[in-house]
Amino acid sequence: MKCPFCKHDDTQVVDSRVNEEGDSIRRRRRCLSCDKRFTTYEHAELRLPQIVKSNGFRELFDEDKLRVGFNRALHKRPVSADLVDDAMERVKQKLLSLGEREVDSRRLGEMVMRELYKLDKVAYIRFASVYRDFQDVEDFRDAVKEVQKPATRRKPK
Ligand SMILES: [Zn+2]
Repeated sequence: MKCPFCKHDDTQVVDSRVNEEGDSIRRRRRCLSCDKRFTTYEHAELRLPQIVKSNGFRELFDEDKLRVGFNRALHKRPVSADLVDDAMERVKQKLLSLGEREVDSRRLGEMVMRELYKLDKVAYIRFASVYRDFQDVEDFRDAVKEVQKPATRRKPK
C-alpha cells in the first residue's frame, strides 16, 4: 500500500489487530521512505446489491420502496409495524448474504412474497396478484389454493 504522505510504494505493517467485534482489522503501517505512520482498516464489504428490473434498468436498493411495497400489501391488515420491520430486515439480510452486486427484481419480489406469506395470507395474495401479474380469476384461485394448503407442507421458497 502506498504511503499517503510521500506516495512511496513500500509500507510496512507494524501492528495488526482484530477489533472486539471481530469484524474488522486495524493495521498500523509505517512508510519505509519517510517513516510516517498511518492506519488502515479492513472490513468485509457488505453493500446491498443493485436491483435489476425486468426492463434491464438497474437501480439502487431502496428501503423506502420496499416499505411501500409491504405497506400497500398490508393495507388495513392486522399486522404490526414491528413485524413489518422484522420482515424487511430479513429481506435485507438475505440480500446481503447473497453477496452479489446485482440481484434480479424478480428474486427480490420472491423474497418479499415469502415474508408476506408468513405475515398475512391476504397481503400475500394481494402482492402476488400485482407482482405475478395475474391475468384472470384462475390465477387468483391458484394463489388462494396455495395459501390454503395445510401448514405441514413444505415452506414456500
Ligand atoms: Zn512516506
